Amino acid sequence: MEATKWFVQTAESCVKELSSDAMQGLPLAVVQQRHQTGGYNEWLSGKRTSRMVLFLQQFNDFMVFVLLAATVLSAVLGEMLDAVAIVAIILINGVLGYIQENRAEQSLHALRALSAPMAKVRRAGKVEVIAARELVPGDIVLLESGDRIPADVRWLSTMHVVVEESALTGESMPVEKSIEAIADRDAPLGDRLNMGYLGTLVQQGTGTAIVVAIGSDTEMGKIAGLMKEVETLRTPLQNRLEQLGKVLIVVSIILTAIVVIAGIWRGQPILDMIWAGVSLAVAAIPEGLPAVVTIALALGVQRMIKRNAIIRKLPSVETLGCVEVICSDKTGTLTQNKMTVTHMWVDGAFHTPHGKMLAQGQSHASMLQAMTLCNNAQWNGGDAIGDPTEIALLAVAEQSGLNLTHVNAAHPRVYEHPFDASRKRMSVIVETSNGHHVYVKGAADELLGQCTHIQVNGECKRLDANQQQAITKAMAAMAKQAMRVIGVAHRTNITRTEWQDVTHTERKLVFLGLVGMIDPPREEVKVALRKCKQAGIRTVMITGDHAITAEAIAHQLDFMPPGGLVLEGKQLERMTDRELEAKVDHIYVYARVTPEHKLRIVRALQRKGHVVAMTGDGVNDAPAIKTADIGIAMGITGTDVTKEAASLVLRDDNFATIVAAIEEGRNIYENVRKVIRYLLASNVGEILTMFIAMMVGLPLPLVPIQILWINLITDGLPAMALGVDQAESHLMQKKPRGAREHIFADRLGWKIISRGVLIGLCTIAAFAIIYIPGASLGHAQTVAFATLVMAQLIHVFDCRSSRSIFHRNALQNRPLVASVVLSQVLLLLVIYIPFLQPIFQTVPLYIYDWMIVTIFASIPTFLLGILSLLRSKRKVTKIYKLS
Ligand code: ATP
Repeated sequence: MEATKWFVQTAESCVKELSSDAMQGLPLAVVQQRHQTGGYNEWLSGKRTSRMVLFLQQFNDFMVFVLLAATVLSAVLGEMLDAVAIVAIILINGVLGYIQENRAEQSLHALRALSAPMAKVRRAGKVEVIAARELVPGDIVLLESGDRIPADVRWLSTMHVVVEESALTGESMPVEKSIEAIADRDAPLGDRLNMGYLGTLVQQGTGTAIVVAIGSDTEMGKIAGLMKEVETLRTPLQNRLEQLGKVLIVVSIILTAIVVIAGIWRGQPILDMIWAGVSLAVAAIPEGLPAVVTIALALGVQRMIKRNAIIRKLPSVETLGCVEVICSDKTGTLTQNKMTVTHMWVDGAFHTPHGKMLAQGQSHASMLQAMTLCNNAQWNGGDAIGDPTEIALLAVAEQSGLNLTHVNAAHPRVYEHPFDASRKRMSVIVETSNGHHVYVKGAADELLGQCTHIQVNGECKRLDANQQQAITKAMAAMAKQAMRVIGVAHRTNITRTEWQDVTHTERKLVFLGLVGMIDPPREEVKVALRKCKQAGIRTVMITGDHAITAEAIAHQLDFMPPGGLVLEGKQLERMTDRELEAKVDHIYVYARVTPEHKLRIVRALQRKGHVVAMTGDGVNDAPAIKTADIGIAMGITGTDVTKEAASLVLRDDNFATIVAAIEEGRNIYENVRKVIRYLLASNVGEILTMFIAMMVGLPLPLVPIQILWINLITDGLPAMALGVDQAESHLMQKKPRGAREHIFADRLGWKIISRGVLIGLCTIAAFAIIYIPGASLGHAQTVAFATLVMAQLIHVFDCRSSRSIFHRNALQNRPLVASVVLSQVLLLLVIYIPFLQPIFQTVPLYIYDWMIVTIFASIPTFLLGILSLLRSKRKVTKIYKLS
């Protein structure tokens, strides 16, 4: 069956054929019914690795193959017990790996779902924002610049709609859309000017359209896979760890080879030594490291989601911890974006809005009418949808007794020059019984320049210098109180040729008045700003608003130090890049900027060597967001384009969320370092135990199966729990980490080596004390086995702190405590359960043995802890003496 050719039909007939209603949208019952029959608007195959494949992947590992080969060898040689035990250990390891990866996969999947596209739709007479997945054919969607078209649609009304369709047609030039039917039934996609296609981008304008196809029926759906998903790249850290892993493999194999050769040379049985070598290599290679790092990243990202920050690019998690400057929008991010009009300036005087304003004369009436007509917010009875600035204006008009529906119906809009952040105003042309009129509203100071007249007491007069001065004074008075000031103007009798050119439309205007609205700072932002200061992060406000308003808010929020500068967009334009760089470190507020300026600001900061985070919402913010080290998009007010360019999306548009994300970013990095520290120190300890014993001529302190058991119970769960540890209290009191800082910075390498060496030496010492040549070797081996496990389980608590074990409450990380208890129980099981003893070649230990075990297992952590405590005491005493 040939698909319906919607583009040859008129808009009305499309609406009729889809049994919809352009003004009301579909009734909810019809939507439900269409969901049942036609499904949902989904086109991504959303392939996920199947659970079985994920499980099997755990065994696709070189070391597993080596182990299996060794197992087969022992089975052939009759060591069945060993073979079975090792297969069991491999299986348990696989299950653990599966659990880890499955968790990571799930959280990444949840992340993708969160960044799902949304659509603004009119249903049952109300406008609402829904997930694009919920759309059905016949839905009426409202589209504006920056939106990705959420399904295939037929345009019903367009106001300068320009769409970029290159993803579908390959045509890089954007096309202007219209609603006229097209006669040519064979018109190619690119020529169907009244159609909009899923995934293409509205670059300009506003319009409404009816959904004609969803999901795999759309043009894009037919070539599914083209749509970009959330990027889940590997982070630089993961890549570096992979390289490190390779180096460690080589080192471990060399050391293992030395141990094996030395053993054979000393007359140990060859097979025993091969076995010892294989198990030692398995234990020494930190094969769990990549998985645990992924877990730490994935779970950290989940914690961020809980705090309303959605990461779109995984590598940004690391960069977050390095952020030195946050460039933040003001409206809605630092402030609540809850606009309330508190002052109006009409007829040369201030007024507080009240219910009877309409009766106060012609100027008031014209002003309220202009505020209503030059407005795109939707007044749905009590609640409203749209730009808060516009909602605030409608609220005043409504309160003062104006019948909004009536006014709109009596003045149908014939044309619009939409608001744009560069012009900072919008204008509409309406039709009346006596000609066409234009209504304009926008940034008051800039609008004033376009006015030649002023309406006073209902009369239109020439705007003289005195009146201009009075207006400027009134504006400044409101701005000083941190108000956003909107100017309103109009002009009667405008011609079609005039209104088609914005420069002609918005000139020779009659000034009607000013509206001052407050937008209180967000309370939580004050705390977040203080946190930033302590964390060595500078906050810079970038706003389209007036300099005085912006500065007043900056003072209310208290982030501008004495001597901090305010720079206006106009000044910035006059500066060269060099001049900007020279000042950029001292500028705290950029006012009346356009999105293009943002890019220069980011670049100037980056050239000064800073790691910059930059927020944005509009289409034109995308280049700056892309250039910033961390581009941040607004989840509520942001356009699809900015969200796609961003590495972080704020679900609540809130500045405090940025700071929360940075905090989590820093913590994730620290947790990864903790895991590296723990796993590598453990491995150094294990290798050294065997290595030293060989070198000094002692028998092997551990049998292969014990090494594998140690690897299983110490590397798995405790490392995972460490990877999701709580942040240290001083995490946000440190300066940001340098972007080039090495993962082993801040003496991490020393900590790993010193603890590892001590763990090895203490294990050997415990072994040597118990070992009596000729007597039971099993007894001494069991003591060494227990010492090595316990030394690691104590050391894991040491890894939680960058200082020492005494600096943190060991019980705070419950999962860690639980995993350590579990590992300890697993150790006791193989020592005391009679049928396990021959498998693990253990003997039961007694009080004296446990005393030896406990003392030697504690030394590595507590000895160094006490030393560090003494050192920090000495530092404190020194500081005390100095002061
Ligand atoms: P920020 O960049 O911090 O979010 P902002 O919201 O003030 O600041 P813009 O949205 O670019 O920045 O607005 C710039 C100016 O344009 C505002 O100060 C206001 O005077 C004017 N303005 C804002 N919204 C509208 C609107 N809907 N219609 C007309 N003028 C507007």
